[in-house]
Amino acid sequence: MGKSKRPCLDCRRLFLPTADKNSYCPDCFVKYNNLRNQQRRAKPKKKDTRVRGTRAYDDPQYRKYRKQLLSMATQCGICLKGVIYDDPFQVDHIIPLALGGGNDPNNLRVTHRSCNIKKKDKRDVIGIK
Ligand SMILES: [Zn+2]
Ligand SMILES: [Zn+2]
Repeated sequence: MGKSKRPCLDCRRLFLPTADKNSYCPDCFVKYNNLRNQQRRAKPKKKDTRVRGTRAYDDPQYRKYRKQLLSMATQCGICLKGVIYDDPFQVDHIIPLALGGGNDPNNLRVTHRSCNIKKKDKRDVIGIK
């Protein structure tokens, strides 16, 4: 009793199945394997391009400005109030990086965390992230 041939799921040609190639003939197996590898490779690439350019923390210049701004902060750039207990200051991009804003001091301001979150919520409503 030898192994019996079976039709390939793709081209329907009879072939001898092996342990790791039991659905497709060797030709189609290669084809499907390439396809799967391409898909697998394509996915993380997409993620990378979306993240790139929006990670301000990767910019050492920004980190420097951020530190300076936070050390000098006395007032929130949104509600104009001073330090509020339990609501730490954050550095906010006035024009979001996603909309072409930069990491230079002109585009940075200090806000309360809660004020910044409210601003982000508002942006989400109009569909800007
Ligand atoms: Zn085939
Ligand atoms: Zn505020």
